[in-house]
Amino acid sequence: MTPTLERIEERLREVICPRCARYTSKKTCSLPPDRKCAIFRSLPDVLEIVRRTHSWRIDPYADTLRLRVCAECPHEDDHGTCPIRESLDCALDAYFPLVVDEIESEFRRIHASESTPVYRDPL
Ligand code: SF4
Ligand code: SF4
Repeated sequence: MTPTLERIEERLREVICPRCARYTSKKTCSLPPDRKCAIFRSLPDVLEIVRRTHSWRIDPYADTLRLRVCAECPHEDDHGTCPIRESLDCALDAYFPLVVDEIESEFRRIHASESTPVYRDPL
């Protein structure tokens, strides 16, 4: 895992999990062991979607999510229907605007720290 991916995953676990219906009073996730959270399972793809999409509206991000992530997800059927999404039990779908905001903020922080000039004492 790259440092950026690691940092973003950590941030999303801090921000999204406590808001999620699957978060327990013991601060654990109640998803069954054979169902990995779609946010963290698909994080590299989601990062790429956010990196390549530039819009004030969420729709272009969500459209690409459907094409790139949902179409490959085992829960979506051949008609583009997902029972997990319909029962509001996919955290990636339910919190997608917040996920995008957090990733964009993290990208801005990384960009700002990379473009800050480093002043060194003269030798
Ligand atoms: S479903 Fe995902 S977002 Fe929700 S608590 Fe579990 S790991 Fe966190
Ligand atoms: S909305 Fe459904 S198809 Fe899309 S990632 Fe979530 S579970 Fe998978």
